[in-house]
Amino acid sequence: MRQSHLFTKTRKEAPQGEVAKNAQLLVRAGFVHKEMAGVYAYLPLGLRVLNKIIGIIREEIEAIGGQELLLTTLQDPEIWKKTGRWSDEVTDVWFKTHLHSGDLYHQGSELGLANTHEEALTNLMREYILSYKDLPTYVYQFQTKFRNELRAKSGIMRSREFIMKDLYSFSANEASFKEFYEKCASAYMSIFARIGLGSHTYRTFASGGSFAKFSDEFQTLCDAGEDTIYFSKEKKIALNKEVYTDEVLKDLGLTKEELTEAKAIEVGNIFSLGTRYSEPLGLLYKDEAGAERPVFMGSYGIGPGRLMGTVVELYGDQKGIVWPKSIAPFQVHLVEISSESEEVSKEAAELYRTLTEAGVEVLWDDRNLRAGEKFADSDLIGIPLRVIVSEKTIAAGVFECIERGSGKVSSMTASELIESLSHV
Ligand code: ATP
Ligand code: MG
Repeated sequence: MRQSHLFTKTRKEAPQGEVAKNAQLLVRAGFVHKEMAGVYAYLPLGLRVLNKIIGIIREEIEAIGGQELLLTTLQDPEIWKKTGRWSDEVTDVWFKTHLHSGDLYHQGSELGLANTHEEALTNLMREYILSYKDLPTYVYQFQTKFRNELRAKSGIMRSREFIMKDLYSFSANEASFKEFYEKCASAYMSIFARIGLGSHTYRTFASGGSFAKFSDEFQTLCDAGEDTIYFSKEKKIALNKEVYTDEVLKDLGLTKEELTEAKAIEVGNIFSLGTRYSEPLGLLYKDEAGAERPVFMGSYGIGPGRLMGTVVELYGDQKGIVWPKSIAPFQVHLVEISSESEEVSKEAAELYRTLTEAGVEVLWDDRNLRAGEKFADSDLIGIPLRVIVSEKTIAAGVFECIERGSGKVSSMTASELIESLSHV
């Protein structure tokens, strides 16, 4: 894509009152637009990153048997009343609305904007899960959640409207549920590794709710995190502060001395729902003997936006964002200097064509600006590899390449460049 066609521009200042580093950089670089506190729109660059994250999650969830669907945002209160979660005391993050006052049959009656989807999906699955032969089954979606979050100070990592990947498992019994639960835990680790967060992310013991002693959170070590965890790098184990008690430590065979306290970001979590939703909503199946039993459920969430924010927090530096290759909006930032030279423009156009034809995603800075300005923008946007075309590089017969992360400089021909990019 030609940068001169990109409608977004970089800016020097972050919005007033924006305290989170991720949102400051993402707004300045033109990835997101701040609509209001805790509410962000994704602009073309940001949407490219978000879609790459979603693509990686989708691949890994499909690989463990997930079936994708799309539930609705508008929620029927009647279903939520059955599980006791319609009440604002129980669910303190509700955004509620109501039907038109002129509606003939349901004059002004209340509706909810989904903050999660256990109720809706459990109710829907009653039509499809009838016998043990229909189990297990795994259903997931990428859907908007609305949450009236009390504190929205972490930029896109805690927003009031955000896309969540939520997956739900439906099993005949706990043993079958657990088998999938472990598969999902390893799928999650693959997702975080592919996104570039692998070595910083710990599967973490957290409180489990009514159906299991623990749930598992996936916590990425980062000073900007809202959670506190205790972890051991050697043992690759971690506990959330909420379960950091002498009793739990003893259970897990851990000592306080071997654990380090750190701030962390919850990038995902998985937990047992047991029959918490299947019982009140009547999601029952007939077992081999013909007896009716409640379905045993699990729930598995990841926030693609929170992942994006986490990457910016972890890898962003003084100059701007540093994207891992797997989720970068483009692989190459082709910067021509200067645009007044026709020869340079021709050479840049030629390289753009060659790379694009080879399947490389290129943002081509064809704008007529000073080199310093272009480099500053390029650093801020954070594409992994910058390739410079100038009179100097034309004379040398090779392109100058700079890695955004390491600052490593090299000289490559077009074919060497394509070769090096094919190893992403
Ligand atoms: P938290 O403890 O951070 O409030 P949660 O435990 O309520 O999150 P879930 O409802 O289980 O989270 O959501 C699953 C995943 O969705 C989280 O692990 C996180 O990645 C993401 N997520 C949750 N809340 C938000 C939010 N307000 N903005 C962006 N992503 C979120
Ligand atoms: Mg949580």
